[in-house]
Order: sequence, then C-alpha cells, then structure tokens
Amino acid sequence: MLKVMIAPVTRFQQNCSIVWCDETMEGTAVDPGGDFDMLKEAIAQQGIKVTKVLLTHGHVDHASAAGTMADHYRVKIEGPHRDDLFLIEGLPGSGRKYNFPAYKPFVPDRWLEGGEQVTLGNLTFDVVHCPGHTPGHVVFVHKPSKVAFVGDVLFRNMVVPVHSVLKPRDNLSPAPLKPPRSEPYPWMPFVWIGVAALLAIGAWTAVVLLARRAAAASAPKPAIPPDERFRKAVAAARSWAQLADAVREYIGATTKTTTEVLAQTSSSLLDEVLHQGDLEKFSPWGPRPGDLRALKMRALELIVESSEEVAA
Ligand SMILES: [Zn+2]
Repeated sequence: MLKVMIAPVTRFQQNCSIVWCDETMEGTAVDPGGDFDMLKEAIAQQGIKVTKVLLTHGHVDHASAAGTMADHYRVKIEGPHRDDLFLIEGLPGSGRKYNFPAYKPFVPDRWLEGGEQVTLGNLTFDVVHCPGHTPGHVVFVHKPSKVAFVGDVLFRNMVVPVHSVLKPRDNLSPAPLKPPRSEPYPWMPFVWIGVAALLAIGAWTAVVLLARRAAAASAPKPAIPPDERFRKAVAAARSWAQLADAVREYIGATTKTTTEVLAQTSSSLLDEVLHQGDLEKFSPWGPRPGDLRALKMRALELIVESSEEVAA
C-alpha cells in the first residue's frame, strides 16, 4: 500500500513527497529539491529504506539535492525525461543564483519515457510525459490508489471525464472512397475573350474603312479634261440626240464661244449634228436618214482642232 508524506522544502516551499511501500518499507523522496538534512531525518523517522530517487523535472527547487541524496543512500536516480538534461546540467549555476547549498552535480541514471513504469517496493507507477512546464516533465501515477506525483504540472482534475460522441449504432466502417470529380477545364472565358477580340477587330476595321471612304469622298476629284469627256461621250452616243448633247456640253465646257468653234470647223458639221439631234427629239418624223457612226467620227474633229490650238 502506498504511503505518502509531504515535506515542503527550500525557500520555494516545494512540496517534496516522501513516498514508500508499507509492505516492504522501500521508498524515496520524489523531487528532493533541497533541505536534504530535513528530508533525511523524516525518512529515518519513518524507517524507510531508500532504494532510488525519483525526479519529475529538472528545476532547481525539485532536483537540486538529488545527486547528494543518491550519493548518500548509494542509489540510482530515475527521471525525468531526457529533454530536461539541459536544466539538470545547469543546476549548479541555478543553485548559486538562489543561494542554495552546494549539492552534488549529477546526471540521472535512467531517463524516463511516457508509457514506462517505475517501481518502489511492491508499488508500480505509470510514467506520463507531460512537456510544458519543462520539456522533459514526467508525472508518476499510482493507479490503485489514484494518486499522482505531478511536480509542477497543473491538473484541474485528476480524473479527466471523457465522453464519446459515438452512438452505439454508429457505423464505424470507413466511407467508401469516391474518385475525385474531374471538372472540365473552363474554356468558355477564352471563347468570350476571342469573340470580344474579333468584335473589337471588326469595329476597328469598320472605323478605318469608313474614315478612308469619308476622306476619299471629301478629296477633290481630279477633273476630267473636256476633250477626254467629249471623246467618251461621243463614243457612248447611241442616238443623234445623245451626240448632239455631247457636242453642246463640249462647246459649253470649253472657253470658246460657239462663234469661235464655228470659225474653226465646218459649219455644216455642227449644223448637221445639232439639227439631227433636234429632229430626233422634237420632230414627229424623226431624224433624216444618215450615218450616225460617220457623223460621230467627224464630230471628233472638233477636238483635233481645239487640241492643236491648246498645244499651240
Ligand atoms: Zn518547476
């Protein structure tokens, strides 16, 4: 059966636990942080045979006297977890800082891992690694008596209530794996961008073409020389009236007066052209029979005369 006696040690009043098995009287002090003479006396009064030293962590007020105690009883030191080695190596310096007596430096003989067990006589303690207060902090749990030596780990309750969220009929078999749904690559945005680009190109082209057309419309057309226009009009004439109109327009377009034109060409030509045109337009009997083609050829003599005059 587990027996426990609390001995507050050091000026930090750290609760050092003197623990023993009352069947074998084997025991120890958990976390002998200091005041070793006082601990030694209490252990002797209870008639305890010290078989090991137990440490929960490496702080100065918990572990300082462990080396001296282990040396005094010729026992080994168990705990804490290896991660507190740096604290234990720094104990002499920490002790000087807090004016502790010069205790024997030490390195634990057995580092503890969570899940391991330590024994004391007929007592068995479960080791729980509780990093936080220090990285290598361990807790010794004696399940039969529901007692734990927790060092500086703070527990709200020793028994942590755990309620399962599962219902008795819950199906615990894993859900069947579904292949991930493959989403098609979204092409539509690119299609819309392409359509927009084509529309923009079309609009730009239309604007450019309209601007060119407007510029062409506003640009002054090269004036066709009267001679050229007359030549074409004569060639296109299909009737006496059209030939007469062409001659009239030509005479009107040149700077020469009719009199001047008449002076340069045979009056019979002009007379014939104009008279035939008038007959065709206004006479109920129509033009006199004649060779339109021959008259067209002769009409061009008007140009020859005027061109020579211009050239001269
Ligand atoms: Zn501490």
